[in-house]
Amino acid sequence: MEYSNPKMIEEDYKRVWAECLEVIKDTLGPENKKAFDTWFVPIVPLQLDGSTLIVQVPSPFFYEWIEDHYIDLLKRVIRMQLGPNGMLKYSIVMDQTIPTEPLKTTLPSHNNRHTVQNPMSDLPVNINKDNTREIPNPFVIPGIQKTRINSQLSPNYTLENFVEGDCNRLARSAGYAVAEKPGTTSFNPLLLHSNVGLGKTHLANAIGLKTKELHPDKVVLYVTSEQFMAQYAEAGRTGTTNDFIHFYEQIDVLIIDDIQFWSGKGQKTQEAFFHIFNHLHQRNCQIIITSDKAPGELQGLEPRLISRLKWGLNADLQAPDVETRKAILRQKLQNDGIEMSDEVIEYIAYNINTNVRELEGALISLIAQSSLNRKQITLELTKQMIDKYVQSSTREITIDYIQKVVCDSLDLPVESIQQTSRKREIVQARQLSMYFAKKITKSSLAVIGMQCGNKDHATVLHACKQIENLRQTDRYIRNLVDELEKKFKEC
Ligand code: ADP
Ligand code: MG
Repeated sequence: MEYSNPKMIEEDYKRVWAECLEVIKDTLGPENKKAFDTWFVPIVPLQLDGSTLIVQVPSPFFYEWIEDHYIDLLKRVIRMQLGPNGMLKYSIVMDQTIPTEPLKTTLPSHNNRHTVQNPMSDLPVNINKDNTREIPNPFVIPGIQKTRINSQLSPNYTLENFVEGDCNRLARSAGYAVAEKPGTTSFNPLLLHSNVGLGKTHLANAIGLKTKELHPDKVVLYVTSEQFMAQYAEAGRTGTTNDFIHFYEQIDVLIIDDIQFWSGKGQKTQEAFFHIFNHLHQRNCQIIITSDKAPGELQGLEPRLISRLKWGLNADLQAPDVETRKAILRQKLQNDGIEMSDEVIEYIAYNINTNVRELEGALISLIAQSSLNRKQITLELTKQMIDKYVQSSTREITIDYIQKVVCDSLDLPVESIQQTSRKREIVQARQLSMYFAKKITKSSLAVIGMQCGNKDHATVLHACKQIENLRQTDRYIRNLVDELEKKFKEC
């Protein structure tokens, strides 16, 4: 290879890079000082080979990032320094504290060398994969090997207690296959999607646990997308972005929960994840992602990230049918050592059909009710409980809520509705609550009366008429009703 400048000798590599840095710093300007410090200061010049400058960068991610963002600038400064044939070659090591002297150690020539084409120089990039080091990260117990990373997995969400049904068969068996052979099935990434409360978090967590059970040497990590984003932001603030990236690049099975959280925000986070994704995927590490939408419907996520999500298997979880709901209830009861008659289980399973979280919620409320009141869980008690539960969980505006809003706007404590007082403002609060309960909820006059101070249906009817009349004749009431109406519409 030719020297573009005959006077240039090999030891000049430091000076060449220092001059490159000067130009880069000037070009980026003071407003980009942070970017300069993050992406250029950590680069270590290693050697000058003809008109090729060899520099060491801390990670594959780092390399991809600067190639993505600063290729033109780098090309320009290198050619300014080394002439038109000037080239840049990267040496990528996992250890930032690598000595700069023996090139052999940073550019291994044996088999464990991982090469990537560098679009700028057409030269291979060397990645020394073995040269790992400990990386400070909130998940790592300081000073301990990478296998001690806290997986953040919940021990309760196992595959064994994830009840199988038609609604989840594909996802569950794909999950099992992934746990058996993480990273090497075609289910990589594995994307689990469904509406809320249908078991995405449970299943993703269960795959993580099963993987650890079958492959204790694998490093598994569960994070929510929100946590990931917060960590990334924190790393940016404290100048530890490289540590963050290194940390994630060590993971064998990475589970990211609720990726839709990034929609329309966290562009930088998405970019960082994209690079980590590529790195892990290339190394046959497993990526498991959950989302409340199918990839095609995930708006506000970077298109190239969405296209990656489509690479592997997309498995959706449907709402369970009644048989699966019964099986889930039985299993929860068995886990808690509680007995319940079949008719009670059936009643719950038939009446709560929205999602599994609600099903569990109803069951827990029922158990709590029965133990607080020291009552047997009879069908009668179940019916009372579940009817109330279904009412309040499926309807957004409840009578209780109406009473609260009315009393707040009149500056009264909500309990006053239940008092027998004939004081004008309390009577008014009660009448207004009845009026809106009749208008907004589907409750019968009797139920409304009962909940609003234990009155009968005739009192409710009278209250409704009374408010209608006052609305026509009393400006204060008209304004009050209009204002309340507006509030309820906003709910
Ligand atoms: P999502 O993440 O989809 O919102 P979760 O995984 O949090 O839903 O599930 C909600 C609750 O329902 C959890 O307590 C979970 O254990 C339970 N659950 C969901 N699906 C099943 C299932 N197939 N078998 C047993 N429990 C389930
Ligand atoms: Mg979830």
